[in-house]
Amino acid sequence: MNPIIELKNVSMIFEKRSGIFGPVSHIGAVVDVSLEVYPGEILALVGESGCGKTTLGKIVTGLYKPTHGQLFFEGKDVYKMNKEEFDNYRNSVQMVQQDAFAALNPARTIYQSLSAPILQKKLVKNTKEAYERVCELLKIVELTPPEQFLEKYPHQLSGGQRQRVTMARAISLNPKVIVADEPVSMIDVSLRLAMLNLMASLNKSMNIAFIYITHDLSTARYIAQNGRMAVMYLGKIVEQGNVQEILSNPRHPYLQALLTAVPVPNPKIAKMKRKLPLKSLEMPSVANPPKGCRFNPRCPYADKKCEEVEPEMVKLGSGFIACHNYEKVPKWELPKAN
Ligand code: SF4
Repeated sequence: MNPIIELKNVSMIFEKRSGIFGPVSHIGAVVDVSLEVYPGEILALVGESGCGKTTLGKIVTGLYKPTHGQLFFEGKDVYKMNKEEFDNYRNSVQMVQQDAFAALNPARTIYQSLSAPILQKKLVKNTKEAYERVCELLKIVELTPPEQFLEKYPHQLSGGQRQRVTMARAISLNPKVIVADEPVSMIDVSLRLAMLNLMASLNKSMNIAFIYITHDLSTARYIAQNGRMAVMYLGKIVEQGNVQEILSNPRHPYLQALLTAVPVPNPKIAKMKRKLPLKSLEMPSVANPPKGCRFNPRCPYADKKCEEVEPEMVKLGSGFIACHNYEKVPKWELPKAN
């Protein structure tokens, strides 16, 4: 199957000036990333805050034009498309952001927010059709009866309901890909599962590919249980593959550390003082990344080569890994409760 989205050696380097007349420094938020997304799949993109996941999501949706590398949509280079092709790409790849309140215009009712894009893009012929379509969208995202929500403003809804409205707006343009950036992190814990289930059902019923961006491995494992996962660290992807495969046998020391930090429901294990397999808890700055492997100051398996040479992405199982020593890294296991 051909990928619907393909990133080839993509980088996003921001310029930052210190003070008004100070020197300019360059910050590599995303560095030399190659990644494919397939039609109808769920790909979880995980990593700590500041690792470049959101920037990568914005590159995929066309909100940022990468400074280096190429982005392909359905096999076509996005930045060589004509206007019609580019408009089709922008409609087909939508983003749902973490903060649904900021994503919605506070002065517009839910009907106004949802009808404006479909009227503007001429996906409906008149206001009667727009009304019917908005009601249908609200039903799809399980805001029922729709009439109860049409005249409400964003501040009159709960966090979970607002996020459902942004999801309705994203699907209104019949997208093929949705980049969901931490979509459940700002809603009540009790409502998160329902939101994840909604995304899974949209993925199945409408064959929409999702890129689920998160720092939370538990929700990533849940939503992408039959999909793939890519792990980012300081602007680079360090391991990717089938979710079940890489989470049951993580080979990159960074992914092993992330998994060790995930809380577990077993009270005996939860009580144990699990030691993170890291030399340092400090994440280096993306403005001044370490030489060689970016993870080397924190990695317990780092050697001389790791300090000098950046590891290449190599094929491993169903996926890829970027680590010089992955064959020597011990197998990771959850500590056993006695
Ligand atoms: Fe650790 Fe070296 Fe592998 Fe980087 S390349 S993760 S420093 S062992």
